[in-house]
Amino acid sequence: MIYAKVATETQYEYCIRVASACDIDECVLWPFYVNPNGYGTVNNPRPNRKTIFVHRLAFYGKYGRWPTPEGLHRCDNTLCFNPTHIFEGTHADNMKDKAEKGRASKLMGENHPRHKLKEHDVRNIIAAYDPIIGNSAKLAKEYGIARSVVSNLIRGKVWTHLTNREIKHPTAHRRKITASMIAIVLAQYDPKLRNASALGRQLGISFTSVLSIAKGKVTVR
Ligand SMILES: [Zn+2]
Repeated sequence: MIYAKVATETQYEYCIRVASACDIDECVLWPFYVNPNGYGTVNNPRPNRKTIFVHRLAFYGKYGRWPTPEGLHRCDNTLCFNPTHIFEGTHADNMKDKAEKGRASKLMGENHPRHKLKEHDVRNIIAAYDPIIGNSAKLAKEYGIARSVVSNLIRGKVWTHLTNREIKHPTAHRRKITASMIAIVLAQYDPKLRNASALGRQLGISFTSVLSIAKGKVTVR
């Protein structure tokens, strides 16, 4: 029964399930598709198949209504779908909020010299990141870096030679396998749940790729 549920859960359902049960203060990062602007999206399962922002869907999942007029990130982490980090406001509010936070972070920056990450730090962060518990804030604190840096590492936007390297592997043809995807498979693959196919579907790779990653055959050198 558990197998059937896990294997057939859509990302839409995953978002609602995680968001409605979410009771932590930290950012919860969307582990699946992220659009070019950095927002997680899913397809609405209803007939129109419209694309939905997962932070809006998470708000809906938690509070039973859609954020109006818009759902804005309190945490400025566009990957985050912790519903308690989403507040309602207008586009103008969002711009104002961004400007205020921009000023605040500039002031903070003077007192907080940027920590320079070493290669082993990057590898450790990727290995320690867990999309289910959403520990990016904890990792950021631990390594003395901004949470956005952790997000960018997970998304393969920075340190690309470590985080977003295309793996030369016979099963990697469908989609680039990135270090972030490897981290997600290692965190979520459970042979008892037999969720390799579900994970493969969610990540856009074959279930044999998932199994290869789980067995440690696909690694970032
Ligand atoms: Zn957040």
